[in-house]
Amino acid sequence: MATASKKPHRIAHKTRVHLNNKQRSWMVANCVGCRLAYNYAIEQMNRAYQARKYEPDIPHLSPKDIRKMWTVERYKRYPWMENQRLLLSALNNAINVNYAAALNQWKKSHWNVDKIPRYHGRRTSLSVMMDYTAIADKHIDKKTLQLPQKMGTCRLAEPLRFKGTLKQATFSESGGKWYVSFLLAVDELPERTAAATGTSIGVDMGVSKFVTLSNAEHIEMPPQLDEAREHTKKIQRQLSNKQGPVKRKRKASKNWLKLSRKLSAAHRKTANIRRNTMEHVTKSLAEQYETVVIEDLKVKNMTGSAKGDADQPGTNVAAKSGLNREILNNGFYQFRELITHKAAKVIAVDPKYTSQTCSQCGVIDKNSRLSQSEFKCTGCGFEINADVNAAQNILDRALSQ
Ligand SMILES: [Zn+2]
Repeated sequence: MATASKKPHRIAHKTRVHLNNKQRSWMVANCVGCRLAYNYAIEQMNRAYQARKYEPDIPHLSPKDIRKMWTVERYKRYPWMENQRLLLSALNNAINVNYAAALNQWKKSHWNVDKIPRYHGRRTSLSVMMDYTAIADKHIDKKTLQLPQKMGTCRLAEPLRFKGTLKQATFSESGGKWYVSFLLAVDELPERTAAATGTSIGVDMGVSKFVTLSNAEHIEMPPQLDEAREHTKKIQRQLSNKQGPVKRKRKASKNWLKLSRKLSAAHRKTANIRRNTMEHVTKSLAEQYETVVIEDLKVKNMTGSAKGDADQPGTNVAAKSGLNREILNNGFYQFRELITHKAAKVIAVDPKYTSQTCSQCGVIDKNSRLSQSEFKCTGCGFEINADVNAAQNILDRALSQ
């Protein structure tokens, strides 16, 4: 069918997927198969690399070369694979796509020995990409998706958000739950609400408040985040009382394994809450303001400097590293990445003295900052919430540029 005249756009949608026991073990087998196929490619690549020391002319193995060898060898090496109804095209894709990408990455480093692609270990997270363009039965209806290889249908947590042709489905496991990320070809991308021209806002990311805007609006993380964090800490404490594994000496106890699964689920939950809040906040900012101004924070510098060095031992180390943890927790990086994708324009300004400068008269004095939240200018006596003052300074810096 060659009806489409213009090139279709690609759009992704990720959601939870509910698999039954049979489907789950089939999915795990596919993921493991992909990892083994990839590792097989790495092994052949290493072999060629070693051989090149004696015969420099031996070429790099292309994904196609390796795929041929893999097809011959796979069942000899891994007899268990034969009767699993694995989706062989997915396993081949681990070589076609993942190995090709790794090889390309290595090539970019001019075949630097330190950058040689590595094996994916047993603890690599489970994931498998299924190419639905090659699958005849790609039935997807509201909340049900047809799995290939006669594995039946599975239920999606939400219906597909976009109308289009299903191209790929990548299944992955995280914290004991399964997710599917669809790649669809659509004729038109959904329209975005564009902010009015000339509107701008300054954003101060803080420790006590998650985000403070230059229009004096505070946005906080939802209380569920604190609950989830407390829950995570509790499991961590419980886990430390159980018998963990010691390499080559002791296997983990059943209770330890059970709790460690619980812990990864708890981590996932915390990350999901934070991510969700960030997505909503950045979306709403991008819809309301054409220009979003943020601080150009070097988070790494802030986290590295707390301990100081031999010449300049850090002062107040405990407080600073606590603060640093908070900053990382608040996910400054994540916020910047999301807002950069969504807003029409993002300006990052020098954060120096934004919290000590008076947004009214411009006097810089650290004594103006009375506490975490209070600001009273020593020059003109102007009083304002300290975070709002900083957000206004951030906005002013961008406007005066
Ligand atoms: Zn002032």
